[in-house]
Amino acid sequence: MPRPIKVRRIACCPEANYYKPRGIPVAELEEIILSTDELEAVRLADLDGLYQEKAAGNMNISRQTFGNIIRTAHKKIADALVNGKALKIEGGVVAIEERQFSCQDCGHEWTLPFGTGRPLGCPQCRSKNIFRVLKDQKTGRRSGIEGNKGRCARVAD
Ligand SMILES: [Zn+2]
Repeated sequence: MPRPIKVRRIACCPEANYYKPRGIPVAELEEIILSTDELEAVRLADLDGLYQEKAAGNMNISRQTFGNIIRTAHKKIADALVNGKALKIEGGVVAIEERQFSCQDCGHEWTLPFGTGRPLGCPQCRSKNIFRVLKDQKTGRRSGIEGNKGRCARVAD
């Protein structure tokens, strides 16, 4: 039985998801699929310049797995650039990390992607009396600081 693939955590979704050489119809191009976790590995290691150890930690995978992912990603990107192939970004075993916030004044709840910084205030009433809702990953149940009424809870990242 194959080992289940561990879900890889990514912080953001790519803005564009298709790259192709100019002037050649898609139908005539060979397409290379770069998965979103491969793109995330490239982002962390090559663009942000993180050490593989740290980047692997960010994605919730082992350093060895990260090494394999980035090697595959580099090869695919090189193949596309050198041999003039189309590059399509899709798929991958990923979970986009989201943080949920809640406003104590108006009760508004909203989510933000991981890695976008902490919100300055409630997007609805602009109250600074906001806190992060911590979810129990297994049950989806909330835990933590909800009972902390009447006090200005700090937003923990
Ligand atoms: Zn509010």
